[in-house]
Amino acid sequence: MSEPQTTQADKLNFPPLLLQQLSAIKAAALNDDYGYHQLAHLTENIGPRPTGSPQARAAAEYVAEELRRLGLDVRLEPVTVPHWVRGAETAALVEYSGMVPGTTQKIVLTALGGSSSTPADGLTADVVIVDTFEELQALGRDKVAGKIVLFNELFDKQKAAAGLAFAAYSEAVRYRGAGPKAAADLGAAAALVRSVASADYRLPHTGFSLPAGIPAAAVTAEDADLIVHLAAEGKVRMRLTLTPQKLPDETGYNVIADLKGSEHPEQIVVVSGHLDSWDLGTGAIDDGAGVVMAMQTAEVLQRLHLRPARTLRVIAWMDEETGGSGSKAYTAEYAGDFPRYVAAIESDSGAAHPLGFEVKAAPTAIDALRPVQGVLQSIGATVLEPTTFPPGADIEAMSESGVPAFGIMQDGRTYFDYHHSAADTLDKVVPSELRENAATMAILAYALTNMKDPLPR
Ligand SMILES: [Zn+2]
Repeated sequence: MSEPQTTQADKLNFPPLLLQQLSAIKAAALNDDYGYHQLAHLTENIGPRPTGSPQARAAAEYVAEELRRLGLDVRLEPVTVPHWVRGAETAALVEYSGMVPGTTQKIVLTALGGSSSTPADGLTADVVIVDTFEELQALGRDKVAGKIVLFNELFDKQKAAAGLAFAAYSEAVRYRGAGPKAAADLGAAAALVRSVASADYRLPHTGFSLPAGIPAAAVTAEDADLIVHLAAEGKVRMRLTLTPQKLPDETGYNVIADLKGSEHPEQIVVVSGHLDSWDLGTGAIDDGAGVVMAMQTAEVLQRLHLRPARTLRVIAWMDEETGGSGSKAYTAEYAGDFPRYVAAIESDSGAAHPLGFEVKAAPTAIDALRPVQGVLQSIGATVLEPTTFPPGADIEAMSESGVPAFGIMQDGRTYFDYHHSAADTLDKVVPSELRENAATMAILAYALTNMKDPLPR
């Protein structure tokens, strides 16, 4: 295989000074734990940041103040967000083959976001198990009405181990997203899904589910297996108590912070992550890490006194997890400007070693970034993988409107071990890997703000 040739277009777009600046950004970001310190504050001092919570609001105010301190032009843009709070969540098998009289079997579970409540003292019903939507439909209303439906779709751990964790996730998560609604449509009393996760430590993993109007929860993989084994021997009845509440909508905030471009301030490059998290853990890998990478991008440029030619816009999105109200509000406000956006970057796949980017852009845009791959080579983050899907939930609307869009690809082999569980905590983030991510985002972002021609669309 021959080395890619440096073309005349590469040289015009990336003159020697720009390449030197990109190398300086790399060195500076790899040698500073600014992002990690910010992540420690967001996760340990502020804590879980579920949409609508006081912590989500405090986090927005904190990030805004830190970006002001860096010298950016910052605003907090209000968004109406849902506010759902977890309550009691217990379950036990109260009838099954071989049950010792006077005992029950505990089932470990957690409510899915937006779940309805059972009565305060719970409900008791037979459990029916399906692996697929087709099996549910085949059972029909007669066998589903009044029952607790368990969707037992397995997470493909071999795919995850082989580097295709997101493919495994997208296959399994359909049942978390749409299973409860499908069960409710056939009259089910409640719905359970097997946790969508790549490790089994009897941890339940929550997440968004379409509003179904019935109680809905994720059981651990171990408890799903237990129910399946006992159901093969006869009837299984469960007592289920879930008492979450849907409170009135709240005001949340997108944090938007600009480092004004010196030559083309109207042309914008977005760097972003989402500030809200689930409530069980402290939202370190999902997605405090993405927010602090974007913050560190601005911090490095300011520390090195590198003024971008186009505007660098840092966005900490609100409410990625429960419906995307933050990105929807931003789109409603700014969609008219999207033709002048040069690119949008989001990190929302954790903080492990970066491999490169998923890119939704014209093929010529990927060619134009060859010199950036050269700078990223020593980190290893050289992949520019074309995708036809927007590579980030919060930048989806920009991407669909034609803005070249980039999602950082991290090593995802362990991401779904912790994702949306109580174990999404700061210790899961390796400081040196977070620095690699911050360097990778900052290098691409500054290349996009300062390459001579804006990226082709
Ligand atoms: Zn996320």
